[in-house]
Amino acid sequence: MEFWGFLIYTVISVSILFILLCVSPHGTGPFAWLSRQIFITLPAITEKISIKLFGPMGSSKISYYFLYIFNKPNPSFQIVYLLLSLGGFTIYFFKGFAFVPNRYVPSIHIYTGTAFYMLCVTIFYLACTVSPGKIRPQNEEKYKKIFPYDEALYREVKCSTCDLVKPARSKHCSVCNICVAKFDHHCIWINQCVGYGNYKWFLAFILSHSLLCMYGAQIGLLIFVHIIEKERIMTTRFFDYLGNEVEWSWMTVIQYLLQRYPSWFFVVTLCFIMGLTLTGFFFYHLYLVYENTTSNERAKRLDLAESPKYKHLAEKPNIYNKGFFKNIEEVICAKTFK
Ligand SMILES: [Zn+2]
Ligand SMILES: [Zn+2]
Repeated sequence: MEFWGFLIYTVISVSILFILLCVSPHGTGPFAWLSRQIFITLPAITEKISIKLFGPMGSSKISYYFLYIFNKPNPSFQIVYLLLSLGGFTIYFFKGFAFVPNRYVPSIHIYTGTAFYMLCVTIFYLACTVSPGKIRPQNEEKYKKIFPYDEALYREVKCSTCDLVKPARSKHCSVCNICVAKFDHHCIWINQCVGYGNYKWFLAFILSHSLLCMYGAQIGLLIFVHIIEKERIMTTRFFDYLGNEVEWSWMTVIQYLLQRYPSWFFVVTLCFIMGLTLTGFFFYHLYLVYENTTSNERAKRLDLAESPKYKHLAEKPNIYNKGFFKNIEEVICAKTFK
């Protein structure tokens, strides 16, 4: 049972962390609340403890690195993504595909699975490299023409850092230190902002990875069915470490598979959980497209709604919503300016 506990713990924490890093801690709802606990409350408590343990000097060094990883552009999480995905794929390739072809999984899945993984990495590369839409003095006017000011969430104001008039729907990203057109959020997995220019690649990134995970989980399950049949696990007698016969149950079969193929079992379980989490996250973003709003605007609107003075602004209709298909077209056809 110890291994089970460890497995469940790892899978849940990895998926929570994954989702939280893409959710603004300033919004509302359970994800934003969790995000706040992890990125605001926890660091504050950690800082207090580390001052006690290491003194102010040691503590400021620790928070410097923490702030650097989360608040400055750096490739740490891109490396983590590559290690995780490449590691997962390698285990899948050598441990799982070793049983393919079989009665349930034809060999074509080795090729389609590999091609799909490569497509996912390519989409990740595009999400990381396509510009979100940096506002500069040369393109400021062009960006201002895309969206009108709604006089609720956006009014014509200057960004004090960039010294530019902020186009409607743009926001200054404190991590990248630039103003970004139709700013959604800063994503540390792609080490840049998600905005007007790369939102479609960000959506493609979540969708492709959720489908890859679901595909991996489904093929993985079929390979396990094949293993259960091949090793005649259904008719096997199991004994515990004391030599007593254990009554047959699905739990015993799963425990057996987990101990015999731990890394492969882990990857398939991870595929299943990440697949579900990412699908949920994709639908959340699809809903934002449906309403033609951004994570930033959602948070802004909720903030305004809480203040009695500005409540009426939050209740103003969203002038950017042009209907679902037009909203999708806006996302797909978005072109940035140099
Ligand atoms: Zn700015
Ligand atoms: Zn950013």
